[in-house]
Amino acid sequence: MSKEGGEKKELVFNGIPASPGIAFGEAFVVNVDDFMIDEDKVAPEAVDDEVARFKEALGETERELFEIYGKMQDDMGDEHAKILDTHRMILSDEIMINDTIRHIKDDRMNAAYAFNSVLDKTLKKFDAIKDNYLKERAEDIRDVKRRVLRNIFGQRIEGLDKLRKKVIVVAKSLTPSDTAGLKKQYVQGIVTDRGGSTSHAAIIARSHGIPAVVGLRNFTKFVKPRDRLVVDGTMGQVVLRPSVETVKEYEEAQRKFMEMEKELLTIKDYPAVTLDGHTIELAANLETTDELDDVIGHGAKGVGLFRTEYFFITRQNLPSEGEQYKYYSSVVKKLAPESVIIRTLDVGGDKIARWSHDYQESNPFMGWRGIRFTLTRKDIFRTQLRAIYRASAHGSVRVMFPMISVVEEVIAAKEICKEVKEDLVRERYQVGDEVEIGIMIETPSSVAIADHLAKEVDFFSIGTNDLIQYTLAVDRGNSRISYLYNALHPSILRMIRDTVNAAHKAGIWVGVCGEMPANIHGALLLLGLDIDELSASPYLLPEIKKVVRSVTFDETRALARKALQLKTADEVRTAIEKFISERRPELKELIPEATR
Ligand code: PEP
Ligand code: MG
Repeated sequence: MSKEGGEKKELVFNGIPASPGIAFGEAFVVNVDDFMIDEDKVAPEAVDDEVARFKEALGETERELFEIYGKMQDDMGDEHAKILDTHRMILSDEIMINDTIRHIKDDRMNAAYAFNSVLDKTLKKFDAIKDNYLKERAEDIRDVKRRVLRNIFGQRIEGLDKLRKKVIVVAKSLTPSDTAGLKKQYVQGIVTDRGGSTSHAAIIARSHGIPAVVGLRNFTKFVKPRDRLVVDGTMGQVVLRPSVETVKEYEEAQRKFMEMEKELLTIKDYPAVTLDGHTIELAANLETTDELDDVIGHGAKGVGLFRTEYFFITRQNLPSEGEQYKYYSSVVKKLAPESVIIRTLDVGGDKIARWSHDYQESNPFMGWRGIRFTLTRKDIFRTQLRAIYRASAHGSVRVMFPMISVVEEVIAAKEICKEVKEDLVRERYQVGDEVEIGIMIETPSSVAIADHLAKEVDFFSIGTNDLIQYTLAVDRGNSRISYLYNALHPSILRMIRDTVNAAHKAGIWVGVCGEMPANIHGALLLLGLDIDELSASPYLLPEIKKVVRSVTFDETRALARKALQLKTADEVRTAIEKFISERRPELKELIPEATR
C-alpha cells in the first residue's frame, strides 16, 4: 500500500506487534550504520550552510570522542584510552576535511553525501590490504564515519536516557541496556528491524506502555532522521511519511484504543476472580523503579518478577551491597504489604553488563546466564543476596533464581542463602522471618524434573519467554523464525500442565511471569491450566483481569483440556476463538483485529 504524503509517498511496513497502542512522531534513528544518504544537491545559496553543518558535525564528534576518552581513562586507564587516538587523528585529517569541503562547494553536494564518498574512497583502498593492523584501522575509519554522519543528521545523543524531545526511536536493534534508560515522556514509540515480541526491548516497551513494532527487517534502510511515522503496536504496522488521510485513520484508531484502555482501568481494583469464584493472583513485572507508579496505578497485587539485572546492566560498575539494599528496599517499602519476588541477577543472553562477560559467547542464550553466572561469581551473588535479605526486613520479600536446569543449582543457591542469612543475623541486621525461595521454570529440563525441584522450593514461576525458546529451539529475538515462536504450541501447554501437576502435588504454588498472558488466548489457557498467579507488564493487567472476571474456571479448564489434545498451535488458536465466539463473545473486542 502506498499513498501520496507531502513530497514523498507514504510506505507501510509490517512487523511483529510488540507493545499495543498507536503513536505519531518524528523518527530518531539510533545505532544505524547504513544511513540513507541521498544524492540531493544543495541550492547555491545553501552551500555555506552545508559546509558549516559539516564542520559542526566534526566538532560534535570531537566532543563525543573526548568524553569517551575521559570515561575510558577512568575505567580502564591511559593505555586503553589511547585506542581513541587513531579516531581523533582521522577526524582531524586535513586531506579528508578539505576534500569534503571541496566536494560540497564545487559539486554542491549535501554534507552527508560529500563526507561519505570521501571516506568510502579511502576505505576502498583498505579493502585490498591483508594486514590485520591496517584492517583494524579501517574499522576505526568506519566508526568515525558513523559518528560524523550521525551528527550531520542531527543525532547528537547516543544514549536514549539523554533524549530531551518527543520522538519515535528507530533502530536496527536495541539492547536491554539501551531501552532500560529510556525516558517514557520522550519516547512515543519504538520501531526496530530485529527482535521478537519477547525480546527485552519489547518487554520494556510494554512495561512503559510505549507502542512498539519489532522485526521489521529493513525499515532502517528506508527511514531518515526526522521522517514522520505512525506506529501501530497493536497490529504491528509502521507507516513512513503518512498521508493526511492515513493520519486521520490512525487518530481514530488511537481514540478507540485509549477509550478501551480507560474502560479497562475502571476494573483495576476489583478482585481477579472468575464468575464461579476461583481467584488468581495478578502481580506485575518490574524492571526499574521508574515503573513503580504504573505497577500501583494498574492494580497489581505486588510484584511477581523483579528483574534486578537492569540495575546492574545500566551502570558502569557493580553496585555495592548498600546501593542494592537501598534500591530493593525502596520497592519493598512502596509495595508493602504486597509481596515482591526479587529475582537474582539474570545477566547473560542478551543482558550483558560492562563488567560481566569478558569473552564473546557463540550461543549466549545457552551460555553463562542466570544462576550459572551467579554460582560461579559467588562474590556478586552473596552481595546481592545480602542486600535482598536486608531489604526483606521492610516488607514481604521472596527470592527467585533464574535459569535453573539441574537440581544441584537449587541446592547450592539455597545453601548460600542460608549462610548469608546467618551472617546477617550474626551481624545484627534485621531480616524478614519468612523469605520464601522459588525458582523460574524456563528450561525443558526443569519441567522434566519438576517433581524433584518442587521438593526443594516454596514456589515455581514459569518463564514462558525462555521456555518457548528452549523448547521449540527458536531464538526469542530472531524475527526470521518468529513464526515458530508460539506460546500456544501444544508442547508448551503440556510443559505447563506437567509443571503445575508437579507443583500442586508437592503442595507449592505456581505462577507465570513470562509474556504468555499478554494476549487473551494465553491468559484463558493459563487460567484453565490452574496457574495460581500471573505476573505481567502493568499495562496488561486490567485486560487480563477482564478476561478472568468474564469466564468460569470450569469452562477454561475444559478449554485447556481440549487444547492439550490438539496437534498444532493453529488448532489451539481456533479452538480458543470458537470458545470465545460461542460462550463469551463480549471478549472478542480484546483480540486484535489483525489476528481475528
Ligand atoms: C521468561 O523467560 O519468561 C522470563 C520472565 O524471564 P526473562 O524474560 O527476563 O528472560
Ligand atoms: Mg527468562
